[in-house]
Amino acid sequence: PKSRDGYQWTKATGLVQGVPTLGLIQPSTHFTRGKHYDVIVIGGGYAGLTTCRDLALAGNNVLLVEARDRIGGRSWSSNIGGYPYEMGGTWVHWHQPFVWRELRRYGMMDQLEISPRKNVEGGAKVTVNLDGEVKHLSHDEEDGTVTNSAIQDATVESAFKKFINVDGQFGRSVIPYPHDIEFNMAGVQEYDHMSMADRMAQVAPHLTPLEKNMFEGFLAITHGAKWEEASFFELLRWWALMNYNYPDFMAIGLTYKLRDGQSALARRIFDEAVATGRLDYSFSTPVRDVIDHGDRVEVTARNGVEVFKARRLVCTVPLNVLHTLAFTPGLPTLKTEASLAGHVNQVVKCHAEVANPEMRSLGATNYPNGRLTYTFGDGTTPAGNTHLVAFGSSLPGVHLDPEQDIQVTKKAFEEFYPGMNVQRLVFHNWHKDEFARGAWEWLRPGMTTKYLQALRERHGNVFFASSDSSFGWRGFIDGAIDDGGRVAKIVHDELRDVRPVASKL
Ligand code: FAD
Repeated sequence: PKSRDGYQWTKATGLVQGVPTLGLIQPSTHFTRGKHYDVIVIGGGYAGLTTCRDLALAGNNVLLVEARDRIGGRSWSSNIGGYPYEMGGTWVHWHQPFVWRELRRYGMMDQLEISPRKNVEGGAKVTVNLDGEVKHLSHDEEDGTVTNSAIQDATVESAFKKFINVDGQFGRSVIPYPHDIEFNMAGVQEYDHMSMADRMAQVAPHLTPLEKNMFEGFLAITHGAKWEEASFFELLRWWALMNYNYPDFMAIGLTYKLRDGQSALARRIFDEAVATGRLDYSFSTPVRDVIDHGDRVEVTARNGVEVFKARRLVCTVPLNVLHTLAFTPGLPTLKTEASLAGHVNQVVKCHAEVANPEMRSLGATNYPNGRLTYTFGDGTTPAGNTHLVAFGSSLPGVHLDPEQDIQVTKKAFEEFYPGMNVQRLVFHNWHKDEFARGAWEWLRPGMTTKYLQALRERHGNVFFASSDSSFGWRGFIDGAIDDGGRVAKIVHDELRDVRPVASKL
């Protein structure tokens, strides 16, 4: 079963839209026309799926309305010949409490796999692009005591620490409680208004050319935007969440993924909700408008034909999409403003299957001279080939746009290494996706302090849950699950208490 989302290229097929996934839901609809639901949930990403499951388990009749033909939103995996390529959200860790609870719940803890592999025979392959010249730091060039991947880690770590150390305590005094930045909103202001460009200007004189090059390549994929458009505070927040140190940053952020892909986990949540008999759904149904009548909420699909009714609504569409839905009464100014400004992350994630087993240990930073800013070995495919994952961005001059010209993308992989033999490319271009309009959340300077609280507020009978405005792991899978569960509880408690009294704005 193939979703419409995503693209795949092989020499035999050329570029083809749509890839197979466990997340495809067929038949795409299951609901009773005219039924009054307790709750409608817009969006079937992790926030929406968690809301649906928790509400259905608690006894509420729920309808999920989703624009795509699949579950998972920005976290989903294509399944090609039994092998998953993660198209969006991928890496999870036991330091992320909400997603870990889900893995435990479904008995999936033993399904973690490790992406980057550095301790392979022959040593790790590290490539840097310094001033347009691709340099291969090969194992042989070292004195035998330090591996090149250790050099890569040491270089990025050294730069990272200089970049983050605004308070002499590596950010600890600014973010003492990483899950609740609200504890120090005043102290956060200064860094929230600082852009990544501002911070780089302060730190650059203290970085060696290699440190600057490798660290910029690494940073380019944290926010995927122009340096002056990305808030520095978001990096401080990630750093704090990742235990204020670089080894944990890599272990938590980029190491452990699910053997069968994220869609396998999303599927468990969805299936459990459906099994209650209280979750109905309508896929391939983009929502056009939402009207809150006080005693009920009405949701109209884009085709104008379907109108759904419920006592409460939970909207989980991404921040960058929110302003495309029409709300009556209109959304508060701060919510609309935040959505129109949007988060800035325009990362494009692209996978390659290459017939080069020795590339399993590749780690390459290529900014600002190549389109694949950061690339590394992600797995071994059933054919015994290496699976590489690469990140491109919207940074000027190195913009990656694979569906525009797939040969440019293929060439970008080939340039890493002589003899690179690209067999397959798989990708999802998130910034061209009308139901995402960007990748993971990364706010602009000033947005956290100005908009975050307003984004979480209810609007009459309409509630909001999203990884983009969650507590804790905001911008991650964990944040989506956290927020979906949080809002489900509020809605459930309210329905139980106020039935059948109407609420007003
Ligand atoms: P979404 O998943 O975006 O769900 C929102 C849903 O709303 C979507 O299904 C969408 O189709 C639907 N929708 C939109 N408009 C409409 C409409 N008009 N009508 C009906 N439905 C609509 N996180 C990690 O923890 N680890 C990672 O390694 C990681 N890597 C990432 C890599 C990439 C490339 C991307 C894009 C994200 C990554 N993330 C990662 C972040 C993580 O994927 C997201 O934060 C999380 O999945 C968002 O969940 P959500 O439910 O809040 O939003």
